[in-house]
Amino acid sequence: MAHSLVGKDLRILIVDRRAPVKGSSLASTAMIQHEIDVPLHALQKSIGIRKAQRVWQRSAGAVEQLAQIVRDLDVKCSFQRKRSLFLAGEEYGARALKAECEARNEAGICAEFLSVASLRERFQISRTAAIDSAISASANPAQLTAGILRNALIHGTEIVSGVEIKDIRTFDEGVVLSTSEGALLSARHVVFCTGYEFLEALANKSQKVISTWALASRPKLKRPEWLDRYLVWEGSDPYLYFRSTRDGRIVLGGEDEAVEGAYKNEAKRERKTKMLVEKLADLTGIAIGKPEFEWSAAFAVTPDGLPMIGSVPNMRNVFVTMGFGGNGITFSQIAAELISGEILGHHDADWDLFPIS
Ligand SMILES: Cc1cc2nc3c(=O)[nH]c(=O)nc-3n(C[C@H](O)[C@H](O)[C@H](O)COP(=O)(O)OP(=O)(O)OC[C@H]3O[C@@H](n4cnc5c(N)ncnc54)[C@H](O)[C@@H]3O)c2cc1C
Repeated sequence: MAHSLVGKDLRILIVDRRAPVKGSSLASTAMIQHEIDVPLHALQKSIGIRKAQRVWQRSAGAVEQLAQIVRDLDVKCSFQRKRSLFLAGEEYGARALKAECEARNEAGICAEFLSVASLRERFQISRTAAIDSAISASANPAQLTAGILRNALIHGTEIVSGVEIKDIRTFDEGVVLSTSEGALLSARHVVFCTGYEFLEALANKSQKVISTWALASRPKLKRPEWLDRYLVWEGSDPYLYFRSTRDGRIVLGGEDEAVEGAYKNEAKRERKTKMLVEKLADLTGIAIGKPEFEWSAAFAVTPDGLPMIGSVPNMRNVFVTMGFGGNGITFSQIAAELISGEILGHHDADWDLFPIS
């Protein structure tokens, strides 16, 4: 496949090792949240108030930007604007959620604190508190990706699957990549957005790969009316998260484990699926029954919960995005804005927000 690229002078080339498989699916549960895994008031303590506010504002902006792209390109992907319900949990209780609400409102990101009583009255959920906020969304991730790639294709981008990049060398005038077939590709700039996998040359100790589990119910499942307007997650570690889909499925996930290969264990998958189903029933009364789909996957996290987006140290014109955690879609949008700006010479004021440590 790579041989068909030899000698071509392309403006943008997207290369992926995987060949598309009909009927295959993506791991992502596609909750497109402006809320990142580390609450704002906690992030402020680790990176400072102003910087933490910029991270959260950028994240909220990325969701809006993605919604705009879906609208402009008319991508058919069941994209729905959603509110978000963040429940008090073992890690962040009512007091922390109160502080979180204040921090968000100070940053201009609207959030409403719900007491135990109003949470029960509006959502029939028993927790000590919650935060109700707007600016989130959900979508079918495969259709969203395909729609955006299709548009890139129309505008001259070449997309090649089944080509694995094996190594990388930088030179004054550009970057050379070698493929598993032994072909060489040269480029002025290269962006590695390879999810949770990395070439050895790009490995970064700050990124830790863990395991996570998810499932989807059958369609038209009986569920509370409010759930179709909300994404739900909780202040626990690991946290349970769930949403509904247009065809009335419940998609939920969590039960993360800090072991890289644990997700491959079939028996564990069965146990984790059962636990997810039980947790949802305890919290909401929703009875999933036997899930129609269940899956597990690798997942990469960083100590401060922020992704790393930037230039690869000592590699001129090579950029990388990594450590996306549970917000890969929102962070990808931010990465696309920051990195494309840098390549096109429009340096973004937020370029330093997600440093490669
Ligand atoms: C179970 C689960 C649930 C999730 N839920 C959510 C969610 O609700 N919301 C959210 O925002 N995020 C979620 N995420 C995270 C999100 O899905 C990912 O962060 C996001 O898909 C990353 O997209 P990506 O394009 O960067 O990487 P990927 O989708 O992983 O794509 C990377 C691609 O790079 C290719 N590749 C890798 N190495 C090479 C190489 N050497 N040569 C050629 N190709 C290569 C791979 O084949 C792959 O296709 C979830 C993740 C998991 C696992």
